[in-house]
Amino acid sequence: MTDWNTLIREVLAGEWRDPDTGQTAKVPFETIRIDNSLDGAAPDLVAPLKIGRRIAVVSDINTRDAMGKRVAQELKALGAVDEVVLPGDTHCDEPTIARVQELTRHADGVVVVGSGSLSDACKFATFKDGRKYACFATASSMNGYAASTASVTLNSGYKTSLPSHAPRGIFIDLQVCADAPIRLSAAGLGDSLCRPTAQIDWWASHRLFDTFYSATPYKLVADDEPKMIAAAADLAKHGVAANGHLQRVLTLCGFGVCFTGVSHHGSMGEHQVSHWIDMFAGKNHPGTTHGQQVGVASLAMARLHRELLSLDRPPKICATRIVEAEFVSRYGEDIGRMCYAEARKKAFDAEGAAAFNGKLEHLWPELRHELEAFLMDPADMKAALGAAGGPVTATELGLSVELWRQSMKYARDVRNRWSFLDLADDAGLLDDFLARDPQ
Ligand SMILES: [Zn+2]
Repeated sequence: MTDWNTLIREVLAGEWRDPDTGQTAKVPFETIRIDNSLDGAAPDLVAPLKIGRRIAVVSDINTRDAMGKRVAQELKALGAVDEVVLPGDTHCDEPTIARVQELTRHADGVVVVGSGSLSDACKFATFKDGRKYACFATASSMNGYAASTASVTLNSGYKTSLPSHAPRGIFIDLQVCADAPIRLSAAGLGDSLCRPTAQIDWWASHRLFDTFYSATPYKLVADDEPKMIAAAADLAKHGVAANGHLQRVLTLCGFGVCFTGVSHHGSMGEHQVSHWIDMFAGKNHPGTTHGQQVGVASLAMARLHRELLSLDRPPKICATRIVEAEFVSRYGEDIGRMCYAEARKKAFDAEGAAAFNGKLEHLWPELRHELEAFLMDPADMKAALGAAGGPVTATELGLSVELWRQSMKYARDVRNRWSFLDLADDAGLLDDFLARDPQ
């Protein structure tokens, strides 16, 4: 039987060193276990974490049936269990976090049985009141389980990544994940497809602005990424092994932060597009998830990368068009000013643009070559995501093409993280690309 925990185990134990730097991980959790089945294992997995005598098991109406009920039952072997079941479709927003705090207030620690937003809501709720938590994953839908940050929608509507804490343990029952709706595993694959696009944006940013970069996160997933892509079609058949390959990539990608302290290796331009959709699509938001949006955005970014990298002469930028009043009219008073303040930090004035063009001119032949090594063929990415049952275009996401183009055009507004979206827009190439890019 496949051992799904190789490398993961060594990283956790501090035994894996980056071969080039000698660096080991600073891992904020005690244990991660990925197995074909964890049926009956909850007490043995949770007891060593010492999360408290009274445990709240939090699930929602979907994940309770998938696993929450079973975990709550099994954990009674350890002590008192408060079972908390939230309505479906949980968002990690301030009211939900407050609700989790309130509903679990009698417990010493929390065990969350769920994925994505539910996990993040429990993560942030326990971070706020200083309790430990552990997580049983019910789907292969995202790579945020291991992250020590939580993605929170503030009352203002601004969606942001907040410092939080990591779970003491992460437990992944592959049979449960395989049984989940395939849109969830396809979303996890979509989230993982940002590897090439984030790496290109991050490396280019490092070379052009001397910002920090680390290759370690990419070394961690290098052997597993091809296996995940090869197994993509089996995700649509609820394959246990396909979910194993995917969960390994998601977990190893999460480890990147333990080496670098930042999320750049897996969150650049393509993630800003998804964040923009979540923040500003409003009533036109199709209800799609993070991973579904990141998947479609990663395909589009990969096409943009390939197109720009095919240029023999580098793109030439002008001063960034950035007007506070336009931000306010696009996003409203509060968020408009917040986004403007972020985006202004990376904006170029005429002098800055000239200096940038000089540097890019000088670096382009070398940089192009370096970045081409990180590319994944967008056609292969699209084939894998489609075979997994995931949306591959904005139309399939349920977004109008117009709204999609806005999300690509303005994604750069939401974060001070330079990407090829900034390069293409400042060079006057983005509108033309978006008008041609099939969605
Ligand atoms: Zn993501």
